[in-house]
Amino acid sequence: MASMEKTIASYRERQAVLEERNDAFAQGIAWVEGTLVALREARIPLLDQGFLHSDLTYDVPAVWDGRYFRLDDHLSRLEASCAKLRLRLPLPRDEVRRILVEMVAQSGIRDAYVEIIVTRGFTSVRTARLGDTSQNHLYMFVQPYVWVMEPEDQRKGGDAVITRSVRRTPPGSMDPTIKNLQWGDLTRGVFEAADRNSTYPILTDGDAHITEGAGYNLVLIKDRTLYTPDRGVLEGVTRRTVLEIAASLGLEVRLQPVPVELAYSCDEIFMCTTAGGIMPVTSLDGLPVGNGDECRMGPVTRLIWDAYWALHYDPVHSFAVDYRESGAGGHLAPGANGVA
Ligand SMILES: *Cc1c(COP(=O)(O)O)cnc(C)c1O
Repeated sequence: MASMEKTIASYRERQAVLEERNDAFAQGIAWVEGTLVALREARIPLLDQGFLHSDLTYDVPAVWDGRYFRLDDHLSRLEASCAKLRLRLPLPRDEVRRILVEMVAQSGIRDAYVEIIVTRGFTSVRTARLGDTSQNHLYMFVQPYVWVMEPEDQRKGGDAVITRSVRRTPPGSMDPTIKNLQWGDLTRGVFEAADRNSTYPILTDGDAHITEGAGYNLVLIKDRTLYTPDRGVLEGVTRRTVLEIAASLGLEVRLQPVPVELAYSCDEIFMCTTAGGIMPVTSLDGLPVGNGDECRMGPVTRLIWDAYWALHYDPVHSFAVDYRESGAGGHLAPGANGVA
């Protein structure tokens, strides 16, 4: 418990400092066509196919307490997603990485949600020469850390439903291992959850297995064994981190099709994503998860929660952003430090 309270308290202290700032970049910074602008002023061109046809992929790394977490894993997944969509990063990967670090430094934001989007650009797939990636566009932005579930709420966990009015888009339609913004099914899931007085949808594959929710993977725990779907889902970096932590704690892990039935008979459930970390689900379809009638984070979820946030300080998976020379507070003009 001590570790969780400390993690949240120190985050809230940093957050209070951020909220005191009222300079241009305090609420976010964006990179559009080589120029840095305040996030709120950033615009995309209407004719970009990313907007017109959601013809794009994206990725979301995060910065925690001034340190990028698993940035290279996110960039690798982004490149893999691009390859599957016949897109290419418009800039060399090292250059993208350098700009991402510089943007965080210039924003002065210590806990950040970072988004990188690669779109088809102005030429539609119907008219483009197949494989022509010369027109692809890149957009990047940094904003204060986003929580799918507020950290204070993670102690008692959230309410989820197994959706019955919508299923996850099948992998034969949209490859879910490509991080994408074709959110029609996930958005319908959020509507259904709200209509049933709940918050978090869990979508099935239409064949009695669970898949994932609106931007998060799912992990079920039964008898100290972790179960998470091996198909039909985005292969989350957080999910991967969870599996590595579980292995290091000597917990058994089963990557396999996960029957919906297990969600009703397991001991603990949590959602996981870069935007919020390890988020317990303690009520499912209106009933408490596991036995007992109390809604609070389970013991195995707690172990993983603590290890997950501790890992953000491990130099194997994270590195510190150097904020010193970049005028945190945003008094350097956009384009300073050779970024533009
Ligand atoms: C981003 C995302 C996740 C979580 O992935 P992380 O790499 O852990 O942030 C899970 N499911 C979907 C559909 C997502 O878009």
